[in-house]
Amino acid sequence: MTTLFYETVKKGSKLIKDIPVQAPDGTSTVLPCYIINGAEEGPDICITSGVHGTEYPGIAANLKLYHDIDPAKLKGSISGCIMCNYEAFLHKTMFVNPVDGKNLNEVFPGNPNGTLTEIIATTLMQLVSCSDYHIDMHSGDRQEYLNPYVFYHKNSAGRSDIDETALEMAKAYALDYIAVTEFYGEGASDIGNFYASVSELGIPCIQPEIGGLGLVDEKTKMLHYNGLRNVLDMLGMYKADPRTVNNNQTLLESFYRLKSQFDGVFNCYVEPGELVKKGQPLGNITNMHADKVLQEFTAEADGVCCWRMASLAANKGDALLAMGVSG
Ligand SMILES: [Zn+2]
Repeated sequence: MTTLFYETVKKGSKLIKDIPVQAPDGTSTVLPCYIINGAEEGPDICITSGVHGTEYPGIAANLKLYHDIDPAKLKGSISGCIMCNYEAFLHKTMFVNPVDGKNLNEVFPGNPNGTLTEIIATTLMQLVSCSDYHIDMHSGDRQEYLNPYVFYHKNSAGRSDIDETALEMAKAYALDYIAVTEFYGEGASDIGNFYASVSELGIPCIQPEIGGLGLVDEKTKMLHYNGLRNVLDMLGMYKADPRTVNNNQTLLESFYRLKSQFDGVFNCYVEPGELVKKGQPLGNITNMHADKVLQEFTAEADGVCCWRMASLAANKGDALLAMGVSG
């Protein structure tokens, strides 16, 4: 790819700039986007971060990648958006865009006549649509405590070649857990997600999840960064130094979230990364005086705790636990 929204970038050079975005209702924002155009021919990959504005490790890794990559040594091109939800980043807002209250990762592929978040989704789909591959980096948000894993999506067209490439990208990210999602059927949880919508276009895509709790440290930033470098190496675009290989990966065949039916106190018995057995108690919600149990959570199947909500307060409708089911 040689252009970034009408701006031509010469071979062997890079450019980062704020792309203006405006909604019909007059609200506006920017998308800090970049392109690194390699000196040699090769595939095009798009790398995005900050769909949720306080999921920091991916944003930090994306900034580092943009500055580290030498276009003279790159085959193909890397395009990206550093802060897909700039207003949420700026105002340190969890989950939603503070301008219209919408969760960007629930509105893809967007709506060109919609509110600002939907226009952002439309613009980001334009950015990705010319790419051969896509990685959308996430973390737990400010109140989510998470064990690293990576999602890949099985597309509804039955194109197993696309699914297999996405799985290879997920493996190359070198995390312990790989979780598969599908658009339809019981437990479908990725409708409106960026990576799932891109996958439905026929572009292999993954959504790695690393870090959380509003923290960014060297370890979580570098886990994302090394994952990106591994995938670039796997695709023959840019040498990783060295490439990390994880020979102990578990494929999670399904994934489910346990939600609160009450406002109350959340007591959690499991930690992220902990293995659980079917029927094992995972936690409960009591009333605010902790003298009456309102809801109990048990494991639906053998698996692993992928993340848990960190806060003691539970609100009706909150996702409190996310569990991956192995095999
Ligand atoms: Zn996220």
